[in-house]
Amino acid sequence: MHRWLVAIWVATMFFIAAGAASAAENDEAVYEQRMELYKKAEAVSLIPWYYFAAIDQYERNIRQVRRDLPKPTGVLGIYIKPEQWAGPLNQNPHDTNPFTISQFGGLGTDGDGDGVARADDDDDVIMAIARYLQTYGIDHRHIKIALWNYYQRAKTVDLILGKAKIYKKYQTLQLDEHVFPLPLRSNYSYRDTWGDARGWGGRRIHEGTDIFAGYGVPVRSTCYGIVELKGWNKYGGWRVGIRDINNTYHYFAHLNGFAPGLREGQIVEPGTVIGSVGSSGYGPPGTAGKFPPHLHYGMYKDNGYTEWSFDPYPHLKAWERAERQRQKRR
Ligand SMILES: [Zn+2]
Repeated sequence: MHRWLVAIWVATMFFIAAGAASAAENDEAVYEQRMELYKKAEAVSLIPWYYFAAIDQYERNIRQVRRDLPKPTGVLGIYIKPEQWAGPLNQNPHDTNPFTISQFGGLGTDGDGDGVARADDDDDVIMAIARYLQTYGIDHRHIKIALWNYYQRAKTVDLILGKAKIYKKYQTLQLDEHVFPLPLRSNYSYRDTWGDARGWGGRRIHEGTDIFAGYGVPVRSTCYGIVELKGWNKYGGWRVGIRDINNTYHYFAHLNGFAPGLREGQIVEPGTVIGSVGSSGYGPPGTAGKFPPHLHYGMYKDNGYTEWSFDPYPHLKAWERAERQRQKRR
């Protein structure tokens, strides 16, 4: 009886391990396929691959959080609406004929030379984007104008160009690693306080997790990203906002101060020190000591129109656990 249980347990563990390994391999294969598409578009258009990667990643993130957009069918996240693909005046919004599409001014392109331009074919989609950008020019300034005309939202253009900058620096698509915001060897404590009511600042709910620690404990970036904000706010005190590659905004508040040289637009990676724990906030610039020192950590998501906060607690737990495991393995 006992031996059977052990056998079942061993078999289960084996399947879990095998499943995890194949999922990781799949991820790598998908990243490779994407990179191949971006490089192909770069070769044809002379626009650097990381712009395609950034547009694709932005749209993938948007589709993950929006219900009005269909789920991707290939490895790309870019979605081109039928009327844009076929041309606004085209009687047939699902036209796949490259000639009629171009007559109606549609974006649809035959990217792989099979004679049809399909909005659900990755080769056709990436080439349609490449051709679109090319009509503006292939340098950064013109790509920015092309993006503005395409998305009509300054924030979206900033988000995409931020991602392009990160991809350019690291020359890889695999930038999903995270760490806990405080060094694990420091003394800290936290519990799930997301959504709690709070006294100061009206009827706002608590949009984050408070991690209590002593003054001066280093605060680290939890992700690969760009410093989007650095400065004072009467609630958050000295605070930093970092935008990661998945469109998530990470917010660090009540800091004692910033890391020397930290500036908006700077690229950070998991573990980059951005400041230290403090008790700043709840008053005009410089106010501190109105509550025990802690790091207020918040997470926000952007869906292409607006931004909302979600509970960081489960993520903090997961990053803390994963980092401890990595340290044990070393
Ligand atoms: Zn807080």
